[in-house]
Amino acid sequence: MNALGPDATVGILGGGQLGRMLALAAARLGFKCHVLCPDPRSPAFDVVRRVTEADYADIAALDRFVADVDVVTYEFENVPAETAMFLSARKPVLPDPKVLAITQDRLVEKEFVNGLGIATAKFAPVDSADGLTAALAAIGQPAVLKTRRFGYDGKGQMILRDGADPAAFEHLGGQPQILEAFVPFEREISVVAARGSDGAIECFDVTENEHQDHILKTSHVPAAVTPAVAVQARRIAETIAEAFGYVGVLAVEMFVVRDGGGHAVLVNEIAPRVHNSGHWTIDGASVSQFEQHIRAVAGLPLAKPIRRGRIEMINLLGAEVEDYRGWLTKPDTAVHLYGKTGIRPGRKMGHVTRVFPEP
Ligand code: AMP
Repeated sequence: MNALGPDATVGILGGGQLGRMLALAAARLGFKCHVLCPDPRSPAFDVVRRVTEADYADIAALDRFVADVDVVTYEFENVPAETAMFLSARKPVLPDPKVLAITQDRLVEKEFVNGLGIATAKFAPVDSADGLTAALAAIGQPAVLKTRRFGYDGKGQMILRDGADPAAFEHLGGQPQILEAFVPFEREISVVAARGSDGAIECFDVTENEHQDHILKTSHVPAAVTPAVAVQARRIAETIAEAFGYVGVLAVEMFVVRDGGGHAVLVNEIAPRVHNSGHWTIDGASVSQFEQHIRAVAGLPLAKPIRRGRIEMINLLGAEVEDYRGWLTKPDTAVHLYGKTGIRPGRKMGHVTRVFPEP
C-alpha cells in the first residue's frame, strides 16, 4: 500500500473514546476521519468530519462508508467477520481481519500464543456442565471461567474458588467457555507495540496496571519489573506482532509471577487495537499510541517513542468524573474527558495523566 496523502480519509469502525482519540491524532497529521458506529451518542462522532450511524451488518451503510474512505481501521475487536470481509474486498482494512478471527476467541488466541512458544495460564475448553467438571479436575482450583467470545472489563467471567460448581456454565449463558488456572500474579503489565507497513516495530515502555472490579483503574510507567522481565515482555509483544504480520497498534496484557528465584511472564490477552493502558502516551511520550496507529495504517513511518518521565494514568470511572475540576488545577496533570452522557458505575468517562519529569 502506498502512503496516504495528507487529505486522505481514514475510516474507523467503532465510536468510543478510542475512536475519538484516534481521530484527534489523525487530524493532527492532516487526515480526515469517518466513523461508523450504531450508537448515536458515540464519543468519536463529536470530533470527526463524517459519521455513519448504522449497524455493522448494514450493507448499504457499509457500502457508502467504504466508498468515502481510503483505509479502514477499527477501535474494537468485536467487528463481525462478515463486516471486515465485505470492507476488505473494497479498501485496505488494517490490521488484517484475520487477526480478529484469532483474538475474538479466547481459546483460539491462547492456542495461537502457546504455538509461538509463549506461556499462558493453563487452560481447557468448556462446552457443557459436565465439561466444566472435567476441566476443573484437569486445571484445579481456584480457576477462572470465561466466555470464549465477547468478554471485556471482567464481563463474562467468574472465579471458581472451591468445590466444583457445574452451574457456573449456565450462569455464563451456556455458551462456549474456557477455564483458566487462576494466576497468583505479583503484578499485571502490558506492552503497547506498533508495527508499521514496512515491518518496523516500536514498543512503548512496559506499563504496570491495577484493576478495580476487573476494570483498569491506574497505569504506572515504568513498571516496577526487573530489566529481564521488561525485555521478555517486549519480546513477547514483538513476536506476536511479527507472527500476525500486524500493521497498527496492539496491546498485550501479561501477568508477572514469581518463578523460583526469578520471574515468569504469562500472556493474559491480546487487544488488536489501541488500548487503555497506552493512554499515558498522549501526554507522557514524544508520540502517542494513537498517532503510531494512524501512521501505521496510513503507510507512514513510525516514530521512536521517548518517555517524558515517570507517568501515572488514572481512569475516571463512573461518578469520579464529577471531580474533574479538581484535576484541572493540579500541576503536571492532563485531563481527558470523553464527552459521554450518562454516568454508570465503572463506565470509562475520562482519564487523567500525571507526568513527573525525572532528573
Ligand atoms: P480479562 O478480561 O481476561 O482481561 O481479565 C480481566 C482481569 O481479571 C485481569 O486483568 C486480571 O486482573 C483478572 N484475571 C483474568 N484472568 C485471570 C487469571 N487466569 N488469573 C488471575 N486473574 C485473572
